[in-house]
Amino acid sequence: MTVEIDRNSGFCGGVIRAIDGAEKLLAESGPLFSLGAIVHNEAELGRLREKGLRTVDSLQSVLGNGRTLLIRAHGEPPQTYRIAEEMGWKVVDFTCPVVLKIQKSIREARAAKKDGQIVIFGKIGHAEVLGLVGQVDGDASVVENLHQLQEAIASGKIDLNRPVDIFSQTTKSPVEYEELCTSLAGRMASPGLLTVHNTICRQVASRHDELSEFARTHDVVVFVSGRESSNGRVLSDLCKSVNPRTYVVGNASELDPSWFSPDDNVGVCGATSTPKWLLEEVAVQIKNLH
Ligand code: SF4
Repeated sequence: MTVEIDRNSGFCGGVIRAIDGAEKLLAESGPLFSLGAIVHNEAELGRLREKGLRTVDSLQSVLGNGRTLLIRAHGEPPQTYRIAEEMGWKVVDFTCPVVLKIQKSIREARAAKKDGQIVIFGKIGHAEVLGLVGQVDGDASVVENLHQLQEAIASGKIDLNRPVDIFSQTTKSPVEYEELCTSLAGRMASPGLLTVHNTICRQVASRHDELSEFARTHDVVVFVSGRESSNGRVLSDLCKSVNPRTYVVGNASELDPSWFSPDDNVGVCGATSTPKWLLEEVAVQIKNLH
C-alpha cells in the first residue's frame, strides 16, 4: 500500500496568519482569548490551548483588566469591535485580508445603491457570514442554496425589480455559486440590475480542481477535517463525488482497517482548517495498519 499526502492541503493563508500571530502573542504576553474557535479543528485547538489560547463564546465571558481579545480570520461585525472597546478589551485583529475586502465591498455596494439589496450565498449563522451581514446592520438576505433563493424570491424578500449585489462566503463551492448567480440573473427584471461579486477565496477555488484530480487518481481517499468546518464539508463532498471510497476522519484514531486493501494507493487530504502535522499523523497511522 502506498500513502500520499496532498501537497495542496493544509491551512490557508488566512488561518496561518491568525495562528502564527496568536502563537507570537502567547509567547510574548501570556493568555489570549479568541472569540470563537480560531480554527475548526479540535486537534489544533488542543495544541494551542496548551500554549494559553482560550476560546470564548461571548465578550461577557471574561471580566477584569488587561484582557486581550483575538478576532479570528472569519472576521466580525462592527458591533463586536464597539462592544469590545466599551468593555475595555484590547483587540488584536486577525481578520483575513480577503474577508476584510469583501466586508468593504458590501459597505460600498450599500452606499452606492440606496434602493439596492445585498444577497449573500453562505451558511446561515456562520461566523464569516455574520460578519458580512453586520456590515449593513443585518439588512441582507442569506441563502444557502438554490431552493432558499427561490423561496426568498417567492416571499418577496428579494425583489427582482430592484438592484441586487450578490456575494459569496469565501469557502463555498464555485460551481454552486455560479449556478445560483445564473439562476438569479435569468429571473431579474432586467440584466443590469444584478451585480455578481466574485468573492470565493482564490485559495479555496483553486483547491477544488486540484482536489478533484487528487481524489480521482487515488484508490482510497482519507479526508481529515473537524466536524465544524464548513470548508471541510464542501471539500469532502467534492472528494466523495469523484471517489466513492472517500472516508472522513477527525484524527488517526478514527481510521478503520477494513477501508484499505494491501495494494491500495491511498491519498490523504484535508480542509483549509486541517494542520499539516495532523495529515502526517494520519498518513503514518495508515501505513501502520498493514
Ligand atoms: S479561506 Fe481564504 S478567505 Fe478564508 S481565511 Fe483562508 S485565505 Fe482567508
